Amino acid sequence: MGKAARLFNGNADQTLRSRVTPTEDQRQFLQQQWNKLADYLKSELANYGYTVSTWLQGSYKYGTLIKPVHKGEEYDVDVGIYFEWDPKETNAAPTPSQLRDWVQRHLIEYASTTPELQEVEQPAKERCSRAIYAQQFHIDTPTYHLDRARERRRLACLSGKWEDSDPKKIYKWFKEVVGSDDREQLRRLVRYLKGWSAVAFVDTPAARPSSIFLTVVAAEAFEGMWLQRFSGIADDDALIAIVEKAYIRLTKDRRVFNPVDTVEDINRIPDDAWETFLTRLTLLHDAAQSAKSAEDESSAALAWEEAFSFLMPLPETDEVEFVDASTDRAIMQVPEVDISVYDNDGTLLQTYRNEVPTVSKGRSLKFSIVNPHILPGFADISWTVRNEGEESDGVGDLGHTRRGIGMFSVEESTAYVGRHFMDCVVRLNGSIYAVRRILVNIRPNQQRQIAQQSRAWMKLRTRRGRRK
Ligand SMILES: [Mg+2]
Repeated sequence: MGKAARLFNGNADQTLRSRVTPTEDQRQFLQQQWNKLADYLKSELANYGYTVSTWLQGSYKYGTLIKPVHKGEEYDVDVGIYFEWDPKETNAAPTPSQLRDWVQRHLIEYASTTPELQEVEQPAKERCSRAIYAQQFHIDTPTYHLDRARERRRLACLSGKWEDSDPKKIYKWFKEVVGSDDREQLRRLVRYLKGWSAVAFVDTPAARPSSIFLTVVAAEAFEGMWLQRFSGIADDDALIAIVEKAYIRLTKDRRVFNPVDTVEDINRIPDDAWETFLTRLTLLHDAAQSAKSAEDESSAALAWEEAFSFLMPLPETDEVEFVDASTDRAIMQVPEVDISVYDNDGTLLQTYRNEVPTVSKGRSLKFSIVNPHILPGFADISWTVRNEGEESDGVGDLGHTRRGIGMFSVEESTAYVGRHFMDCVVRLNGSIYAVRRILVNIRPNQQRQIAQQSRAWMKLRTRRGRRK
């Protein structure tokens, strides 16, 4: 059983799965929106004289959709629009550009009567139109010709060409690549990788792998793990194995062929971004290897944090003390952190130690290490915000992180109601020395600051993870 299995997909307060997976309500909301859009387009487009149908595709269909994790990101929903005709019996078939023009025009019309639809992207993309909604999602509408007699589908490109592309075939492959007992686990594994990709390529978007690329790489690796699947494997162990396989495979050969069309390479990462991709994949591989050799949950979670950042939950504790394996003594004392609460005029309202029992929205917080002299020289200090709760979820802002040598204090403001954490991790030369977790409880109507009740801090001890 993996050391971090509980924090991946177990009974922990927060799990990696719950942090990246949309809730049932979020999924239903998206479903209502795309259903409405699909119904409208079907009835309007039927006026051109062809049978029109729609088919949901992409991550939503695959069960691998993840939440937006940074502010400003959107859920991505793909609804294919199919115009049907038999090329043998039709003389004047529409051109790809015509189909795309019809779809784009009726989307714009739909937007004018649908207040929640903010805008239709202009001009349309080469392979789809995009309708952008106010509530953090967009719907893409790739448009196809369906030749039902020959079971053939072609994608209409804006530039006027047809592209052979059959989303149904590859979906069928995905559904059958592992048996139904393992399908849900495969879906979770793909979501973890997509979560990694959402945080690991923020500054290098050109190197970010596509969803289908990650899906195929994960599925092909998992398919080969039949013995582990047969006897049951925890999510974190399965991810370690998949990352190992992906790392070996992709460093040898960058090509990833479409499993149902073996001439198409679905790796669309440009050549000049490939080295960057491999560097990030190496970091994920290193994190997975450290997690594999970790002796307990804390060490494993902190190893995964190197790859998943604020998406990876940490154990429910106030502090983690690292002890030296040979002497069993703490490597350092866990630092104490003061949190000063200011109102928007900059007036100091209260100062707390190691937690903020309650605070209103719209306040400024300054976190400072009280005893920096206990830290080793050149200590590398990271401050990671982990947001929880419906409000941050609704905006798609699950956290962020800052890190620097000697960064003894940071400032934050309180934006979302909920229980959040500020996690301060002290490292030296890449090894973790101590962790302080600061609970910040944001309430909607907290007029004045209350005094802090004293309580005992919960401490976990861990032996310093083996270094490679
Ligand atoms: Mg899309």
